[in-house]
This record gives sequence, C-alpha cells and structure tokens, in this order.
Amino acid sequence: MAPRKLAAGNWKMNGDLASLTEIDQLCKAHPEPGCDMLICPPALLVYPMVASAQTHALMVGGQDCHAKESGAHTGDISAAQLRDAGADYVILGHSERRADHGETNADVAAKAAAAHQAGLIAIICVGETEAQRDAGETLSVIGDQIAGSLPERSDSANTVIAYEPVWAIGTGRTPTNEQIAEVHGFIRRQLDGRTGDAVNLRLLYGGSVKPVNAAEIFAIPNVDGALVGGASLKAADFGGIVAAL
Ligand code: PGA
Repeated sequence: MAPRKLAAGNWKMNGDLASLTEIDQLCKAHPEPGCDMLICPPALLVYPMVASAQTHALMVGGQDCHAKESGAHTGDISAAQLRDAGADYVILGHSERRADHGETNADVAAKAAAAHQAGLIAIICVGETEAQRDAGETLSVIGDQIAGSLPERSDSANTVIAYEPVWAIGTGRTPTNEQIAEVHGFIRRQLDGRTGDAVNLRLLYGGSVKPVNAAEIFAIPNVDGALVGGASLKAADFGGIVAAL
C-alpha cells in the first residue's frame, strides 16, 4: 500500500503562544485531512501545541534534538524530552542547522538514532546549494548526505526524507518538475540498497511550497508530501497545501 502522504510545517524560529490560534483554525478547517498533518514549532511551543491539537488530527514535532538522552548539555533538548512533551516527529539536519551550527552528516545520523530510540519519526533533510547544482554535483551531494545521515535500522516507520534544495528555501524559487523527479527518483534508488522497504519510505519536497504550486509538486513521481516553512505559519496557507495532497 502506498504510504499516507505527509504535510509537514516547519515554523523555524517563528510564533508564540498567540499563534496557537492558527492551530485551532487549521484543525477546525481540516478535521479529517486526507494526509498526515504535522507542525514543528519552536521547542517551547511543542507542549502547548500538543494540548491545543489534542482532539484533532494534527501531529506535533520538534525541529532538532540532541544525540544524547540527557546530561550536561546546556540549552539542548533530548529526543526523549520531545517525546515526553507529546511530539511524534523531529526534523533533523535542516540546511539552516547544517549551516548555522555546523552539523555534519554524522551528527545528523547520531541525532536520528536518538530520535528512533525515543520513538520519534525522524525527518532527515538533504539538499544541494546553488553552487553545487551549478557545478553538476547535486546527485553526488545528495548521495553522500543520504549515505551519511541515516542511522542503522532506518525504515519507513521511523524515517522520512525531505529533499530541500538550499537555494529554494524561502526564496520563492523552485526546481523544475523534472529536477524534483530526478532527485526523488535518485533518493528512492539510494534507499533501496539500505532499507528493505524503501518503496514505502516517504520522500518530502521542501522549498517555497505554497498553495498555488502544491498540487503540481505533489503530482511528481516519488513526492509523498512536503516540508513547508513560510506557508505553514498561517492556517489558510497551510490548509491550502493540506487540501492539495
Ligand atoms: P520555505 O522553507 O517553505 O519557507 O521555503 C522550507 C523549509 O526550510 O523547510
């Protein structure tokens, strides 16, 4: 059976308690969405968002976690703590974390292993920079990220991959449908060698997904949903993307 598609919102460092009204509106407008619906707010909002989404079909996730379960790591949050707060997912290896915090593929793999251990589904992000695409390195960069960022025992139940070209994030620019299809097909083949059930592992596209381009992107082979930044902040925008899946 084809996997249930996933509309995942990444609020990044945006939102406050007052923004939870957007969650109420989203849940009321989409009581029975035709896809899995997820919002990953800043860590401080995970628990209150879980509480306000409680009777609805909305899942909540974190945007990062530490590789260790607990200990002397000031300012960090563990996967078990996210799980304890009610999170089901965690985004890992987003290009902003790779750039701002120097996260390597090995760091991402260690965090993903911790997430799996805690019972979270890891959304592992990969994607090339514009310079890498221009140099014809896209598939080798993605291949290295896939090879290095997925821990042992990654499968369709505990892992989602998000392909997010760095140059498409927050820019309003998107790859062509052919470029998305090429990378998603490549990722599917890479996974085939690693996981027994690659065919069911969800591959999200991320980077300037909006209600106006969502349906076209979702029709591309091997696109099983989206990771959405800016357009996930408002219920009407994210709802439009949910409705397109
Ligand atoms: P964007 O961000 O939708 O604002 O381009 C996507 C992301 O970074 O996950």
